[in-house]
Amino acid sequence: MKTTLRRLSFAAALLTALLLTACAAPDRPSDVIYQTGTIDGLMEGMYDGPATVAQLLRHGDFGLGAFNALDGEMVVLDGGCYRADAKGATHKVAASEQSPFATVTFFHTQRGATAGQADMAALEKVVDQLAPERNLFCAVRVEGLFAQVRTRSVVRQVKPYPKLAAATANQPTFDLSDVRGTLVGFRCPYFVKGANVPGYHFHFLTDDHSRGGHVLNFRLAAGVVQVDVISRFRLSLPRDPTFTEAEFPQERPGELEKIEKGR
Ligand SMILES: [Zn+2]
Repeated sequence: MKTTLRRLSFAAALLTALLLTACAAPDRPSDVIYQTGTIDGLMEGMYDGPATVAQLLRHGDFGLGAFNALDGEMVVLDGGCYRADAKGATHKVAASEQSPFATVTFFHTQRGATAGQADMAALEKVVDQLAPERNLFCAVRVEGLFAQVRTRSVVRQVKPYPKLAAATANQPTFDLSDVRGTLVGFRCPYFVKGANVPGYHFHFLTDDHSRGGHVLNFRLAAGVVQVDVISRFRLSLPRDPTFTEAEFPQERPGELEKIEKGR
């Protein structure tokens, strides 16, 4: 019975999504990508930010990021904020927890599609077809059954903080198989370089909210892909002199790719 209801609600959500695809709707007033901190700050080892989880949740119910001291990976889904710890286990966090870098939005399904078996590259192509606006932001939600998901988490760091490349050099990785869950992600345009991650960035949370993390790879068995294309970007920066007066390197060939994609 429960499964039937679930399928029906999936079908209803999909139908709504497909109907919405027909009209190129302008952004809702609440459709904003809200970001705290920058990826370059994180890469330089600036792991303590002023934003609280309570503040982030006022700007979105969906998103991803990091926690202060680089203590695990953040997943925000359906208004809950979860930490994937160094063992890959996820727990809901207190509203007072803080983040040096996070991206959130209120997710509204604009378009959707069902997807069969797909690896990361194939799934990204599905999203690219649903959302050809490559120079806008796109929030991506994929719910389904995953044959395999490889996640990584990060280990709480102590001061003086190492740079992100060093902190993630021995990152713990986890392989989940035959698991139901949700990919929570964004596709950011190329011009966010330095502030965020251009291209795709996914975190994962299982349906039972017990496992998750930053996604290195996956194989979807079957699922529903939903996208929210957003043309507003709000960036909140720290006022700490370690950030405001820092000199950032102009180029980091391959470094971000290695950290985010694990290759
Ligand atoms: Zn991540």
